[in-house]
Amino acid sequence: MKKGTLYLCPTPLGNLEDITLRVLRILREADKIAAEDTRQTRKLLSHYGIHTPLVSYHEHNKRQRTPQLLQWLHNGETIALVSDAGTPAIADPGEELVKKAVAEQHTVIALPGPVAAVTALSASGLPAVPFVFYGFLPPRGAQKKTILAKILAEDKTVIFYEAPHRLRRTLAALAAADGDRQVVVARELTKLHETYHRGTLAEVSSYFTQVEPQGECTVVLAPGVQAKEELGADALIAHYLDLGMPAGQAAQEVARLTGLPRNEIYRLILAQKKEGQ
Ligand code: SAM
Repeated sequence: MKKGTLYLCPTPLGNLEDITLRVLRILREADKIAAEDTRQTRKLLSHYGIHTPLVSYHEHNKRQRTPQLLQWLHNGETIALVSDAGTPAIADPGEELVKKAVAEQHTVIALPGPVAAVTALSASGLPAVPFVFYGFLPPRGAQKKTILAKILAEDKTVIFYEAPHRLRRTLAALAAADGDRQVVVARELTKLHETYHRGTLAEVSSYFTQVEPQGECTVVLAPGVQAKEELGADALIAHYLDLGMPAGQAAQEVARLTGLPRNEIYRLILAQKKEGQ
């Protein structure tokens, strides 16, 4: 068996100049380009005069397409993977193919390039490390509620992707729990209408109730409590209960941060709740 090479090729988020010379060379030299949307990628390729054969690889055909791509790698071919915008496998198709190509001992090479999450973070003015990236949030329901509670409890800067028609509700839910926390909504990065909306959750949420969110949005949210590990169990419990976190989840989180037994924390929670009545 020959060994093939899979290149992960980041493409522009909007501005066609945001592509590296190396990505262009690999796209030109590869045997095939596997693209999330071949029409979209064709526009990019024709802008740069690249004529490499294109095949589609997206959420809905990846089960059938993956074995074929692996077979081409087995034949010793070079495959360049691209998504519609940004880096493949980051909230985009690619993760499974990478996993399988690695398992079959093909060479997998990631080329550096645009990622909306990191672009937004670097200009956010919020603590850049540590950060945690949630990708897209669940659209609604109990799953979304659980994730929002987790996000509010994070002691790291949080980055997530949100569709514009869901942004208002998400910001309102976060603002209702912790209106004073700093947030940045990065819209249309690298495009004509690029805008950073900065402020507290209450301010930014209120802005978007007046102005309809449009375009692609990345949200960067400041950490909940700075250096939580330095706080005592009582302060941590008060913080999580203020955020409306259920007692069981708060006990687990505080136990994790302090190293104290969960049932001891649970007793402290009940005591705090009793005091607050
Ligand atoms: N793989 C991509 C990356 O590396 O960032 C992400 C793809 S994901 C399907 C698309 C989401 O990324 C959008 O809904 C939006 O949340 C975010 N995004 C992509 N382009 C953006 C831009 N120009 N400005 C702000 N956010 C963007």
